Amino acid sequence: QINKMKTIQETRKSLPVYQYREDLLSSIRQHQVLIVVGETGSGKTTQLPQFLVEDGYTNDGKCVVCTQPRRVAATSVAARVADEMDVFLGKEVGYNIRFDDRTTPDRTILKYMTDGMLLREFLNDPQLSSYSAIMIDEAHERTLSTDILLGLLRGILQERKDLRLIISSATMNATKFSKFFFNCPIFNVPGRRFPVDIHYTLQPEGNYLNAAITTVFQIHTTQRLPGDILVFLTGQEEIESMQTKLVEILSKLDGTKFSDLMVVPIYANLPQEHQAKIFEPTPKNCRKVVLATNIAETSLTINGIKYVIDPGFVKEQSYSGGISKLVTVPCSRASVDQRAGRAGRLGPGKCFRLFTKWSYFNELEKVPKPEILRTKLNQVVLLLLSLGINDLLHFPMLDKPKTTQLSEALDNLYAIGALNSKGTITKVGQVMCDFPCEPEYAKVIYSSVFEENCKGVLSQIVTIISMLQESNSIFIPGLNREEKTKLFGSMMQSSDHMLYLWIYEQWEENGFSQKWCRDFKLQHKTMKRVLSIRQQLWKYCVKLHFISKDNQSSSNALENTSPAMLEAKIIKCFISGFPTNVARLSNQGYTNIKHGLSVTVHPSSVIFTRLKNEGKPMKFILYQSLMLTSKEFIRDCITFDKY
Ligand code: ADP
Ligand code: MG
Repeated sequence: QINKMKTIQETRKSLPVYQYREDLLSSIRQHQVLIVVGETGSGKTTQLPQFLVEDGYTNDGKCVVCTQPRRVAATSVAARVADEMDVFLGKEVGYNIRFDDRTTPDRTILKYMTDGMLLREFLNDPQLSSYSAIMIDEAHERTLSTDILLGLLRGILQERKDLRLIISSATMNATKFSKFFFNCPIFNVPGRRFPVDIHYTLQPEGNYLNAAITTVFQIHTTQRLPGDILVFLTGQEEIESMQTKLVEILSKLDGTKFSDLMVVPIYANLPQEHQAKIFEPTPKNCRKVVLATNIAETSLTINGIKYVIDPGFVKEQSYSGGISKLVTVPCSRASVDQRAGRAGRLGPGKCFRLFTKWSYFNELEKVPKPEILRTKLNQVVLLLLSLGINDLLHFPMLDKPKTTQLSEALDNLYAIGALNSKGTITKVGQVMCDFPCEPEYAKVIYSSVFEENCKGVLSQIVTIISMLQESNSIFIPGLNREEKTKLFGSMMQSSDHMLYLWIYEQWEENGFSQKWCRDFKLQHKTMKRVLSIRQQLWKYCVKLHFISKDNQSSSNALENTSPAMLEAKIIKCFISGFPTNVARLSNQGYTNIKHGLSVTVHPSSVIFTRLKNEGKPMKFILYQSLMLTSKEFIRDCITFDKY
């Protein structure tokens, strides 16, 4: 233990920011806002907040907070810092991410939070008076929440003269932040960086996953150890599929000829206990291959990487013409440069780009497009309005969204009853603000209590919504339709929503047991998260008096309701929250009722085979998400005939 602490302290001192500790602290004392720019891995995220604590910023009972765009980063960094400070995670050092608050009021002095969670704190405390210093980390990522946070923080600096604001960013947009904050100083932390050899493909790659696999084996068989490989992929599915393929090939290879290859994935939804694996030192005579989303671009530093394989794609939210969807797009030049930099931390490295040099110079955008310009603004518009910021057009922002985006958000909020025709927040709208989920879901919950024709299904609705939050990691990876049909029988003839409800209720009846999950090929860890989400949503329902004391047990009101009636009510609730996520059957298949976009049911959906086999398919589908890959796929669907 003593040795471990010693190594940790030595590691701390070896980080580039350590040399600048005094300079940084004195700049922070002198300037209310400071931009800090430094190479990934230089110690910004783990060290700067500790410096502030050491410098006394938490002596008067206030906290230091550091925001992260990603949940994984917030949790893993908090764990690391708790270790470094030799305290328990959740006590002096904690994290707070949506549905998972690991802090102790009155005891926690250093918090890592997602940017979205800090944003929500403005609702309860518009001056953020419990904080003495706020570090907005990874600001260059320009998430929607970070941008709004920066705008709001800029507004409270005058009244909170004691507050210190540190904005950490990659070089790409430091001056933009400085300008936004009245030309505040930029502090550069020079990092250690070794040269990285960049290799391009001569031809565009048709299938970058296969190309990446080939490259992994080329590196593994020709390059000496040590030297781990980092592959950037777009999401969980891609990572899982590449992991399966790599493991399959490895099992067929003559093991005596090569040293070991160890494959470790990292993505946002990966359960926490698996995340730690990427930080473990690679065993001798072994090479680690990390399959990562762009989490590994700047948020997480993985030691030991010498080779980077970069297909050059990223999955991002896109929003145009009122349609919100996930799309895979080419990265920006700034992003692929960051990715290449990951190979040059240990010593000279190599980066294999699976695209052409021509494409790098002629096709890639310079910097990523900020999220605020490519996403639905419903939730933030509601938040700003509820903070009394009515003049949205003049709210200070690094990049202003288009007026059409704003008016669409207002329209949407009006459609779900959050605003009245004058654009003021309604009572329902206020409730939507309070709920820790998107306003659309809050409306679904609200309808299940108050709306005629809907009410009486609160318990079921809260269950389904909790399941939907985690829907992409409920089943064990790779579970196919045939197996699902064997396991879930006639439920596979219903819909995703009803299957989720059935699964949860069965699990509950079986004492939330791990064995039951194993038998039904469900991820117990995910289900436990669902349970915790459900409990938290339920707490809000109690707080807002949606449940009267004598009506705590869920289905009292519905004793005489048939399953068909129940489903009809559930559908009505979801329509009330997602009136535009509905597709209608036409000669061309299903098309969205508002935009006319034709959509295809994703094969992972329960309704996929049903639609194929049924003589008379249902007229309408309500879906929760739209993802563009080869087609416009809809997922998490429920069907109905009357609208
Ligand atoms: P920056 O924010 O400047 O990119 P960090 O503060 O995140 O840098 O990381 C500094 C160092 O701490 C890195 O070398 C990284 O490998 C190490 N580190 C961070 N988190 C962990 C962890 N969970 N386990 C082990 N080492 C870690
Ligand atoms: Mg960092």
